[in-house]
Amino acid sequence: MTNIRIIEKVGNNPGKTTIMITGVHGNEKVNVKLFDRIIPELRIDNGRVVFLYANLEAIEQNKRFIDINLNRAFIRELLDDEDNKLLEVQTAREIIPYLDNADYLLDLHSSNSPDSKPFVICEPQSFGLAKSMPCGLITFNWDEFEPGSTEYWMNLQNKVAMEFEGGYLGDSASGLRAEEALMNFLSLTGNINCAIRRVPNKKFLRIVSLYKNKESSFGKSREFADFEKLKEKTLIGTEGNKKVYADKGNILLFVRDREELDQECFLIAEEIDKENLLNIKEQDNLFKGGK
Ligand SMILES: [Zn+2]
Repeated sequence: MTNIRIIEKVGNNPGKTTIMITGVHGNEKVNVKLFDRIIPELRIDNGRVVFLYANLEAIEQNKRFIDINLNRAFIRELLDDEDNKLLEVQTAREIIPYLDNADYLLDLHSSNSPDSKPFVICEPQSFGLAKSMPCGLITFNWDEFEPGSTEYWMNLQNKVAMEFEGGYLGDSASGLRAEEALMNFLSLTGNINCAIRRVPNKKFLRIVSLYKNKESSFGKSREFADFEKLKEKTLIGTEGNKKVYADKGNILLFVRDREELDQECFLIAEEIDKENLLNIKEQDNLFKGGK
């Protein structure tokens, strides 16, 4: 039995292998529909493009996941534990050979939050390509806080990889944005011969901390917009009787109420200005400045 579906398209000319993934979170249907719509029409000119529907069972049940978050399952110790039969761990084992054979990865996601902004998750070796994505935000430095995504697995091999968060999952504009991301990506990897469309300027946000509730349930103090800029001493929430503030950084991401212990409650990021960004090495010469 398999929990993934693969569609491969091969160009007439040699070229790189790109993997495009949807359905890592089964309830993010907008990008599953995008795959259904564009794969039959899309012609690959060079190399090979592998389209992968991940977590078919979660897609079928319209759930984020069945046993555990697939986007945290690409962890060596989980994968190597033969007794671990959780669906998403088995699914990660199925996906890995495709990641290992690919030069580039684009993993499409969307958000549960109606006011979400589109953004990219990647590391500096992928900044060159990320700059061509149709969104204003590039976020990085996730791997030490939230390891185990498809992109994390590619980063371990220093490959160019990113997750594109296209916006609210209930908004059809998110699907159109993801389509533009996908076309721009394939254009820059050389898999299709087409010009990339104009893309907005980017802000770069470095993730600086992740808050997990260790002792008690966590409740947010109010609704926050994703990427909301915090004023000093903004109360983010309470864990039991303890008041929780940001210890460093001032941009808040993904605040969630949590009942169970040791859950991801929120992340904090800081904006990196252009000057400091130059100090972060862009290893990806191929895509420097776009094409
Ligand atoms: Zn997702």
